[in-house]
Amino acid sequence: MNSNKMCRSRNGIIFLFITLFFLSCSDDDVEEVMEPVTLANVDEELVPYFERFQEEAAARGISVDLATAEIEGVIEEIDEQHVAGQCSYGRFRNPRLVTIDASFWRRSSDRFKEFIVFHELGHCYLNRGHLESAFSNGVCVSIMRSGVGDCFDNYHVNTRAYYINELFEQEFAR
Ligand SMILES: [Zn+2]
Repeated sequence: MNSNKMCRSRNGIIFLFITLFFLSCSDDDVEEVMEPVTLANVDEELVPYFERFQEEAAARGISVDLATAEIEGVIEEIDEQHVAGQCSYGRFRNPRLVTIDASFWRRSSDRFKEFIVFHELGHCYLNRGHLESAFSNGVCVSIMRSGVGDCFDNYHVNTRAYYINELFEQEFAR
């Protein structure tokens, strides 16, 4: 009788450890599963550019969390001509939505895709409006230009860092 009792309590202890082990195991699993769904409402083709926006902010010491901001992103035909992207928000549009024109997306380079996604996130995340200012040579001061002003774009490998600094400039001041 006595030895049976001891056996049972020992099993009890072993069972407890196993349970703890399983609990900590499934905690890890939950974390792994949750990671990729953070930008769940963003088209998978836009995700790398949303992530790049966060990375460029982080490289400048600015914390940007687009998943928490719940900004959505889609690629679809925008009926209005010459419109590559738009940011929809307001009383009747929550969460905010970045729409990128499907035709534009198909024919554009990685650099120009980045330009447009960053521009729209400039509206949707940074709350920036348009800025049409130009340098004396006519080049746009900001990627937040509307595209209907007089300045022209000069976004390439050598100017990219300047334009991204300018994009986040207000955030530096906070
Ligand atoms: Zn705009």
